[in-house]
Amino acid sequence: MKITGVTTYVLRTSVDKPFTSARGWWYKTKNAMLVKVSTDEGIEGWGEAYGPAEVTKTVVDTLLAPSISGHNPFDTDVLWEKMYQRVEDYDPQGFGVAAISAVDIALWDIMGKALNRPVYALLGGAHRKTFRAYATGLYFSAEEGDFNTPAVEEALAYQEQGFTGVKMKIALPPKEELKRVQQVRQALSDDVELMVDANHGYNLTNALFLGKAFEEMGLAWFEEPVSPHDLNAYADLRNKLQIPLAGGENAFTRYAFKDIIEKRAMDIIQPDVCCAGGITETKKIGQIAEAFGISVIPHVWGSAVGLHAALHVMAALPPAPHSWRPVPMWMEYEQTENPFRDHLVQNPVEHDGGIVRVPEGPGLGFSIDEKVIDRYRIS
Ligand SMILES: [Mg+2]
Repeated sequence: MKITGVTTYVLRTSVDKPFTSARGWWYKTKNAMLVKVSTDEGIEGWGEAYGPAEVTKTVVDTLLAPSISGHNPFDTDVLWEKMYQRVEDYDPQGFGVAAISAVDIALWDIMGKALNRPVYALLGGAHRKTFRAYATGLYFSAEEGDFNTPAVEEALAYQEQGFTGVKMKIALPPKEELKRVQQVRQALSDDVELMVDANHGYNLTNALFLGKAFEEMGLAWFEEPVSPHDLNAYADLRNKLQIPLAGGENAFTRYAFKDIIEKRAMDIIQPDVCCAGGITETKKIGQIAEAFGISVIPHVWGSAVGLHAALHVMAALPPAPHSWRPVPMWMEYEQTENPFRDHLVQNPVEHDGGIVRVPEGPGLGFSIDEKVIDRYRIS
C-alpha cells in the first residue's frame, strides 16, 4: 500500500457565548484542522491537530505531505521520524509536532481499516474498554460579573447528566477563587470528584496557598498550577503538597515528557494525542511514564476525530500500577459548544451515565459526515 495524497481541512464556526480560561484568550470560534491521507488501495484515514489550525495546515501541506508521499502507511515509526526530521531543527516542540500528530493519527486509521480491526487492537489490545468521563467546563464568560452562581449551576447540570467528575477552570485572585471552588465542591455530591485547572495562571506562592486548601477539600487534582516552563516550581509544589499535580497538555514529544518525568514534577501527565505527537508518540510517552510510576490521563479537547483517537490510545495505555483493582482511567469530556465534536461523524462519542466506551469499528471507528465538512470548511 502506498500513500497517494494528503488533504488538509480548516473548519471554523462561531460560538454563541465566548469564554476564556486563565489564559485570558477569548474563544469566539471553534476550529478544527483535519487531515485526510489517501492510499493507492482506496483506503482513507483521518487525523486532527490541536492548536491554531492555519499554522498546522501549512506545516502539513508544505513539509510533511511531501515527505511521506509514496511511502507505506504501515511504517508509522519510520514515517514519524521522517516527519520529525522536517521540523526538528526549527520547531521541535510546537506546531510542527501538532501537525505530525494529525498525519500519524490518519496512518493508524488507515491501518485499522485495512486490517478491519479497531486501532486499539493494533496497539496491543485494550487494557480497558470503558472510561469514567469527567466534564470539563466552568469557564469564564464575558457577561458574567458574578462567577459564583453560574459555576454551581453548571457543575450541578453535569452531575445531573451522570458525570462522576467535573473539572472547573480557575483564574480569579486566590481568596476569591477559593470561595468559588468551595461553593462548587459543597454543591456537588460526595461521589462526584472535582478537579481544578489553572491553565498555568498562578505563581508559586499563590499556587501553594490554593493547593493546601484544595488538598483539605479533597479535590482530585490541581492542573497546571504554574508555568509549564518552570518544572522546578512544579517539583517544589509537589514536595509541599499532597494533592496530585497534573499537566502536560502543552508538552510535545517524548523528549518534553522525559524532562517532566526526570524532574518528578507531576503526579499525572496529560499528553494530548493531537499535539504530543499522535498515536505513535503518545503510546511511547505512556510507556515511559509507566516505567517511572507516573499516571497518564490524556488531555482531550477536539473534534470527534481527536476524541476517537484519544480513546484508542487510552485503551492501550499500560495500567499504572498493575493491580487486582486498577485505578479507573478518566476521559476528559470537554463540554463547551462544539459542532465538530457532536456532528462531524455519524457515530459521535457519547457517555452513558458518565461512562464512555472505546469505539469498536475498523480504524478509529467513525464515518465522517462530509456534509458537515463542506458546511464549515474555510480552507
Ligand atoms: Mg487543562
